[in-house]
Amino acid sequence: MEPKKIKVGIVGAGHGGTAVLGIFKDVPDIKVVGIADKHLKARGIKFAESLGVPVTDDYRSLAKKDLQIIIDVSGSEEVHDEIQRIKRPETDLMGGNCVRVFWKLIEELRRRVGTDGLTNAYNRVKFNEIIKGEIGRAKRYKRPLALSIFDIDDFKRINDTFGHTSGDSVLIAITNLARKNVRETSYIFRWGGEEFVILLPETTLDGARVQAERIRKEIADHEFEQAGRVTVSFGIARYREDDTADSFLKRADEAMYKVKASGKNRVEVAE
Ligand code: GH3
Ligand code: MG
Ligand code: MG
Repeated sequence: MEPKKIKVGIVGAGHGGTAVLGIFKDVPDIKVVGIADKHLKARGIKFAESLGVPVTDDYRSLAKKDLQIIIDVSGSEEVHDEIQRIKRPETDLMGGNCVRVFWKLIEELRRRVGTDGLTNAYNRVKFNEIIKGEIGRAKRYKRPLALSIFDIDDFKRINDTFGHTSGDSVLIAITNLARKNVRETSYIFRWGGEEFVILLPETTLDGARVQAERIRKEIADHEFEQAGRVTVSFGIARYREDDTADSFLKRADEAMYKVKASGKNRVEVAE
């Protein structure tokens, strides 16, 4: 005889419910017998449908079922209290506050993985996560997408003259100056030591050039503590239909190197 499966209900079909469902779908002893969310368009609902798990927007009816466990990832105290009240006495209820704390932790970890610790700019992990989606969107809807790379000029000299800590503050200050001039829909990445990438969805080459010029000028006009005057060199490229992420980056990088080879502190646009 086949061993009895543990019957589980999930309340909440957002990130939490989707993740729980994703874990349980491969555990042979567990059968998810229902998932409930007030939004029938929540990610977990679609996922559940694709797995053949019954879905409902009525968590009360799910809570009254004959289940071994209810996992509540709804994030709502009211919902949690009501499930506690109406569920069968033999059903275990997990979740509530604990789950909320747990998801906050996961979110924070996710954020940290994608963020540079010194400047708080995004890092390459985040770039790799975002670029695919943005290229896909630009391709599908024929929307403009631009990318700039900028590198701090003679940064080694700044470190050598004023020390590594001053160098670090320059990196932080430059990130903040750039951030001030970047739209909310754009992204700033710390690409390497003193090199940054800005990804600009819905932006033409001309728009990116204007923005880069503004950032370049603001940095050049800024009086940095200790380090004084600092400049940056910019290379810009627009996304072309046959581009990969690498070829897209490479054109911006080559444009930036032209600036380095011809006096620095300038914006160069790749054709
Ligand atoms: P160029 O104008 O051609 O770009 O010259 P550069 O001196 O800026 O470039 P180079 O690549 O020779 O030197 C980059 C320096 O950046 C060397 C490295 O020690 C420093 N650097 C990299 N990461 C950090 C960091 O996190 N903090 C500090 N303070 N310095 C860093
Ligand atoms: Mg440099
Ligand atoms: Mg460099």
